[in-house]
Amino acid sequence: MQTLNGIKLAKEIKEEIKELVESYKNQGQRVPHLGAILVGSNGASQTYVDNKIKDCQFVGYESSELRLPDTISQEELIAEIEKWNNDDTLDGFIVQLPLPKHIDQEAVINAIDPNKDVDGFHPMNFGKMALEMETFLPATPFGIMEMLERYNIDTVGKHTVVIGRSRIVGRPMSILMSKNGNPGNSTVTLTHSKTENLEQFTKEADIVITALGVPGFLKADMIKDGAVIIDVGITRVDDSSNPRGFVLAGDVDFDNVKEKASWITPVPGGVGPMTRAMLLKNTLLAYDRRKK
Ligand code: NAP
Repeated sequence: MQTLNGIKLAKEIKEEIKELVESYKNQGQRVPHLGAILVGSNGASQTYVDNKIKDCQFVGYESSELRLPDTISQEELIAEIEKWNNDDTLDGFIVQLPLPKHIDQEAVINAIDPNKDVDGFHPMNFGKMALEMETFLPATPFGIMEMLERYNIDTVGKHTVVIGRSRIVGRPMSILMSKNGNPGNSTVTLTHSKTENLEQFTKEADIVITALGVPGFLKADMIKDGAVIIDVGITRVDDSSNPRGFVLAGDVDFDNVKEKASWITPVPGGVGPMTRAMLLKNTLLAYDRRKK
């Protein structure tokens, strides 16, 4: 078994971007500019936004953060998004999800200018991805594709089973793995909570990608020898012995599954850091397009 080290890979990617940004500066050009809107005070969301800003600082991007109270109305939030859509100094921005219950997430995503939607959640970008056109790819599946490519993991003609069909992870992952490319060209089975006898699929899979948010769901007896295992799951599990009061758990029963897998991502330190790095890549794409 070998570990797919997301921390090391994400650092390499960030170093590459940093070097590029340095060269822009040396040529007297402006640097990419990423914005983040955070509504409310959800602890995990705050941490995610803080990390995105830190990543910008590391690579030398300009960053902007807009914190809004969770009492904000949908109309007021969309008005703020409109301002950023029209702000020529911003290359791209994200609205951190989830949003408070009284706000329609769909309406908010649709309000973002698709050319600035560096999360790749807008229907126009999702459609372009499905049609294999160049666009902003959702950061987590994009990070997994990048990881498979940089570790030279063969996906062509392989059977990939994705568990979970969310719009941000499972479904786009299934589309990217089936695209005509490398990585890609997999035969994909997309499974979800209504899938009957899920094990019959995972046992035959060359690659299993878990994105369901159920700690330890994928057990060793559900996979075949030598399978590649990508664990997207991150769930906070209460743990009073930990100073933070919780530990992060993946969807894979790591200690047992690693004995059978050929490659496996740890949690934390696997897919998570790649997701962060890919937002920087999407921002670079937005910047390049605007420069042209
Ligand atoms: P989500 O929107 O809750 O979707 C979960 C999916 O899993 C749904 O499609 C659901 O099926 C399916 N599912 C749930 N229980 C299942 C079961 N027992 N068997 C088969 N399928 C089952 O979650 P998400 O946003 O995709 O996130 C999934 C996990 O990834 C979470 O732990 C999240 O924290 C983590 N995550 C990590 C990153 C990262 O950067 N590493 C990024 C995003 C998310 P139905 O559609 O039928 O309900």
